[in-house]
Amino acid sequence: KCGIDSDVRTHPGKQVKMEQIIVEGLEVFGYHGVYEQEKEEGQIFVVNCWIDTSFAGAIHSDDLSNTVDYGNVCLFIKKYFAENAHDLLEKVADELATSIMYAFPGVQKLVLEIKKPHAPIPMEFANVGVKVEKAWHQVALAIGSNMGDKEKYLTDAMEELISDPNVRNVIVSDYIETEPYGYVDQDKFLNGAATIETLLLPEDLLAFLHRIEEKADRKREIHWGPRTLDLDILLYDDACIHTKNLIVPHIDMCNRMFVLEPLMQIAPGLVHPVRRRTIYDLYYMLKEKENA
Ligand code: AMP
Repeated sequence: KCGIDSDVRTHPGKQVKMEQIIVEGLEVFGYHGVYEQEKEEGQIFVVNCWIDTSFAGAIHSDDLSNTVDYGNVCLFIKKYFAENAHDLLEKVADELATSIMYAFPGVQKLVLEIKKPHAPIPMEFANVGVKVEKAWHQVALAIGSNMGDKEKYLTDAMEELISDPNVRNVIVSDYIETEPYGYVDQDKFLNGAATIETLLLPEDLLAFLHRIEEKADRKREIHWGPRTLDLDILLYDDACIHTKNLIVPHIDMCNRMFVLEPLMQIAPGLVHPVRRRTIYDLYYMLKEKENA
């Protein structure tokens, strides 16, 4: 069963019309499984997916090329099952969901369910299966450098983001020269901001940013000290995260002009989920405070 669904969800500071394409009960044949019998004989799998997308283009044009074609999604899933075989459904679901996100750019969020109604379990059951969710998350980053060829460090880092399949729609602000913050006995900084969409979860994104920093010969020595490259997560959707490694929204972003000024240039309408203020408001509030 395939179809469409429409619903309006409220996000802080904005209303987003969320529309959904649905594929239910798609039967495909595959060889995934831990047991030899499953690998050799194969079995039927049942796939359901719920795809969040915008219908705007489709409504205006009434043209199939302006939406996520559920027929193509079904064929894509069938082909994936024909060409891959893994032991675990967890692996299958994660890999297939990621491939769908790469192949169908109109998919903003995907919930994918894979069921094995004939799994080799010696008792009566209706279904066993797994369910995963993938989404293009909206993220704002702060970027900075105050050693060596600063502009090149920043530009190379942005290239690393752009070339990764888990990142898209990278928008980078102008770079601004700023005085050092915290530990002041060091060279001036070049700072900027970027907005991206990413499939990576916050901790995975942080690890990815750290790998980019390491490639730029970044050594973690003096806190707030000189660095070839600094990449911070400012906002991640409207998430509030407080773990050992990660605090989001970034703890000091509202007090840093070198963060708010470039972010103001590319994303003035983003909303800080704790302060419940736009970047535009936060920028002018800080400007007023600094001029007082
Ligand atoms: P920094 O010296 O700015 O690179 O920060 C060092 C550490 O801050 C990193 O190793 C992170 O674990 C931690 N951290 C906490 N919150 C964030 C955030 N929002 N973005 C980046 N790093 C963060």
